[in-house]
Amino acid sequence: MKDVPRILGEYTSGKKGPLLFVSGGVHGNEPSGVLALQKIFKILHKEQPAIKGRVVGVSGNRRALMENVRFIDEDLNRVWTEENVRSGKEDSHEKKEMFDIIEVLKKVSEKDHTKRYFLDCHTTSSDSEPYISVQVVNDNDSWAHEFPTYIIRGFSDIVKGCIDHYESRIGMTGFVFEGGQHESKTSQLNHEGMIWLAIHYACGLDLNALPAYPEAAKMLEDKRKHRKTFEIIYRHGIDDKDEFSMEPGFSNFQKLEKGQLLAHQNGKPIYSDWNDYIFMPLYQSQGNDGFFVVKEVKEV
Ligand SMILES: [Zn+2]
Repeated sequence: MKDVPRILGEYTSGKKGPLLFVSGGVHGNEPSGVLALQKIFKILHKEQPAIKGRVVGVSGNRRALMENVRFIDEDLNRVWTEENVRSGKEDSHEKKEMFDIIEVLKKVSEKDHTKRYFLDCHTTSSDSEPYISVQVVNDNDSWAHEFPTYIIRGFSDIVKGCIDHYESRIGMTGFVFEGGQHESKTSQLNHEGMIWLAIHYACGLDLNALPAYPEAAKMLEDKRKHRKTFEIIYRHGIDDKDEFSMEPGFSNFQKLEKGQLLAHQNGKPIYSDWNDYIFMPLYQSQGNDGFFVVKEVKEV
């Protein structure tokens, strides 16, 4: 995509309230959150609806977005460790982007807000139902349950240095939203829907007061009756030297049965020990996670 500014948009109608800080394109091959934000700010500025507080949208890895690659030197969603942030070292392209985003967040946080929310928009390499990935700290989990999509707990704890970890660490409330496959048109709609709903739930925007109720928000709301909450119960790790091939046709959140053939590793079949759900089956050549198994749990 063309060069995008760091601040994709900022909107307030002058009423006191929370800050909603939305990021898109933290991975440069995932432009759909950026496109969704641009579209929504256009509508907000045109229609000038009343909201409480302020919405700010930022782009993630600007150079990687421009070059349509996932990252330049290292994954921008792995650099937000306490150590990196404390050290102040800008020794990779992504660390520069990180400190730039931190500056923006600090600046907008100086204004008087009643609470601070974040939403980090991503997409996935394979087709998927949209889902929320939530780190169970602060009041993130109950906040996530305001929303209609699938919710995964605990995935965020497996990886380190994500932007949402940083945001939670500094006392903000929020989650990561995976809108669907990278290139899918539906992913952008899912992002639009999620951002509209976040503005509604965080800043009290009356979606019915807009000249046209956002179709994308309705599309997501329709998923509420089928919402499930999952926890990770198993990770199938693989080594670089392992030969691993997933059986074809698995999609995210597909129900498994005990004894079902899942994959082959070094020529040996791997069968399901579970009657639960598969998550992130590996169909790319690279990666150390073969697949995960997630279990449906009670919401609270
Ligand atoms: Zn991503």
